[in-house]
Amino acid sequence: MALKRTPDPQEARAVVQGWRAQGLSVGFAPTMGALHEGHLSLVRASAEECDRTAVSIYVNPTQFAPNEDLQSYPRQLEADCRLAERAGADLVFHPSDELMYPEGFSTYVIQEGLTQTLEGASRPTHFRGVLTIVCKLLHCVPADRAYFGHKDFQQSVIVRRMARDLNMPIEIRVLPTVREKDGLAMSSRNKYLSPEERRQALCLYEALRKADSLYRGGQTDAETLRRAMAAALGAAPLAEPDYVEIVDKETLAPVQVVSARAVAVLAVRFGETRLIDNYPFSEAAERRHPPSSAPRASGPVG
Ligand code: AMP
Repeated sequence: MALKRTPDPQEARAVVQGWRAQGLSVGFAPTMGALHEGHLSLVRASAEECDRTAVSIYVNPTQFAPNEDLQSYPRQLEADCRLAERAGADLVFHPSDELMYPEGFSTYVIQEGLTQTLEGASRPTHFRGVLTIVCKLLHCVPADRAYFGHKDFQQSVIVRRMARDLNMPIEIRVLPTVREKDGLAMSSRNKYLSPEERRQALCLYEALRKADSLYRGGQTDAETLRRAMAAALGAAPLAEPDYVEIVDKETLAPVQVVSARAVAVLAVRFGETRLIDNYPFSEAAERRHPPSSAPRASGPVG
């Protein structure tokens, strides 16, 4: 099927409704573009699990604070459409700011309780913007399933909660983090890093690997793991940690004892660039083999 492209919310909705009226299942991967293998893993999963796949490409201004990188965020619509099509997309929805936030726009989605910690502590209006645009996009692209990355762990928890709380008729699928060969989590923002920052950015992965290996060695004291992660970040002189925590995978509350319900989360600044990464300890239980030094597709040790 040839790729259909549209900036028009009504047209996107008509295309998706048409598919569903034919009995076809529809998957949807919302993105801000500058597509990399992390995004494309969502598109491929959707293409495998659903009859039709939609991708949105929209750099959403309401999730950026005034001092953040909205203006410089990479934009490459033509290349993104080619990448999305090759990964199995049938529809790319790429609205403009005027269409998404017309004059007089004043309605937002606010989640209480999960949005003030971690990312929300540093970026107080971020999740209001994220939930508002995800809610809007799901109305424009009324799919059966929406695909998100575990890379943005807190976002995935909050989006799931919104879907549940607001009875949204959609299944939320969250897929593992895709990493560069050396272990750095793929991110559109990695492009901002200088070569030296890029080298040192590996400390995020090293910190998560450290937590994983201590946990698999039997250490379940969260503070011990947290200190070990902070020490790993401390080995990179250019890294300025924002937070290093181990939290419950649903409540996001810090835990004292690490279990398969826990997720190690961190945010680190390198100059102007802010990187996040995380490790769900459930992955340690899923792996039967000891960690290999060769990085693979998802968690800190593969
Ligand atoms: P973004 O374009 O950054 O808003 O991301 C769009 C979607 O892709 C979100 O659900 C992200 O969690 C997901 N994503 C971003 N990076 C990765 C990655 N490295 N691995 C898997 N999913 C990712």
